[in-house]
Amino acid sequence: MPSYDPNNIFAKILRGELPCYKIYEDDKTFAFLDIMPRAPGHTLVLPKAPARNMLDVAPEDLGHVIGVAQKIAKAGMKAFAADGITIQQFNEGAGGQVVFHLHVHVIPRREGVPMKPPASEKEKPDVLADHAKKLVAALAAG
Ligand code: AMP
Repeated sequence: MPSYDPNNIFAKILRGELPCYKIYEDDKTFAFLDIMPRAPGHTLVLPKAPARNMLDVAPEDLGHVIGVAQKIAKAGMKAFAADGITIQQFNEGAGGQVVFHLHVHVIPRREGVPMKPPASEKEKPDVLADHAKKLVAALAAG
């Protein structure tokens, strides 16, 4: 497996070099909206420490990421009146991974509504800003 590339797009977001719609941050974890959401509220949860994917991440960093994914899943249920949540996580190109900093997808789902295909359409900035606001409020409400 290739080594971690510190110039990947999510590393730049973590360093604040590129913008994002931030949902959550703590000392080990960072979460922001996917700009090409497969459903409203589609969020990506990342460890702050460099890790290419599930195959090289430190188990304790992965544990933090999963804990935050659970928080965001619960907030997504409330914020989007969702009926369920899809969790996705891809490893290496053959596994469907496109950006090589570990991330877990948290996708609120409505009964009978299919997900859009991956990376199909960039969402409008005002829609993403509104979705981020709703998720942050639901997280704050607990
Ligand atoms: P994957 O590596 O297959 O899990 O896919 C990477 C995901 O990152 C896709 O769902 C993209 O829509 C998303 N993505 C790509 N660039 C950005 C960005 N600048 N901000 C937020 N999400 C992004």
